[in-house]
Amino acid sequence: MDFIKKNLEEITQSIKIYAEKANRNYSDVLLVAVSKTFPVEYIKEAYNFGIKDFAENKAQELRKKAEELKEYDIKWHFIGRIQTNKVKYIVPIAEYIHSVYREKEIAEIDKIAKKHNKIQKILIEMNISGEETKGGISENELEDLLEIAKKYDNVKVTGLMTMAPYTDDEEVIKKVFCGLKEIKEKYVKNYPDLKELSMGMSNDYHVAIQCGSTMLRIGSSIFGKRNYNIGG
Ligand SMILES: *Cc1c(COP(=O)(O)O)cnc(C)c1O
Repeated sequence: MDFIKKNLEEITQSIKIYAEKANRNYSDVLLVAVSKTFPVEYIKEAYNFGIKDFAENKAQELRKKAEELKEYDIKWHFIGRIQTNKVKYIVPIAEYIHSVYREKEIAEIDKIAKKHNKIQKILIEMNISGEETKGGISENELEDLLEIAKKYDNVKVTGLMTMAPYTDDEEVIKKVFCGLKEIKEKYVKNYPDLKELSMGMSNDYHVAIQCGSTMLRIGSSIFGKRNYNIGG
């Protein structure tokens, strides 16, 4: 599994270079390793390199891996579609839930977080590109949702998340990522907890860094091609 270490050396080096180009501190850009579909041995390898943040997109898989890796000081991120009946498995484990955009999800997260005596950090997923296949809300729905979230004491909205369209056209990607940054800067005045910008994946993270990303969600560039038939 030497390839994981090699990939991580390359990616962390490249994040440093892009952060420097954007006049940003490398330490302000968190690398979240997206371990979905990959075995726990891969996670251990990345952990030994120094990665502490890992992301999963399925509640059961998160639960299973967190149990197998409970001796490890890992921060788990949930980045998948939220099924309200699975929130009870996610909340006890996740440091951040990135993909929240419905009131019923917030209500359920709050309910379970209360039981576990925790304040769950969540990010609101935004659909900037307007693609119908993508989850998330548009900017004109954001303020209402932020107001709603305020009513739930055990939920804290700490940032915004988005995905760019799958394209090689950097201008299109930039519009989406820098668009999310603008929205955050507008709303942070009234919602000071809005700190994080979760954006940037294997093929577009360099653009995300330019646009102020604080959380990169990178999977295949670290762990290789995903095979959804195995464990996915
Ligand atoms: C799978 C996934 C990623 C990682 O994608 P890669 O292209 O493998 O880096 C990032 N974010 C979300 C929401 C994902 O589902």
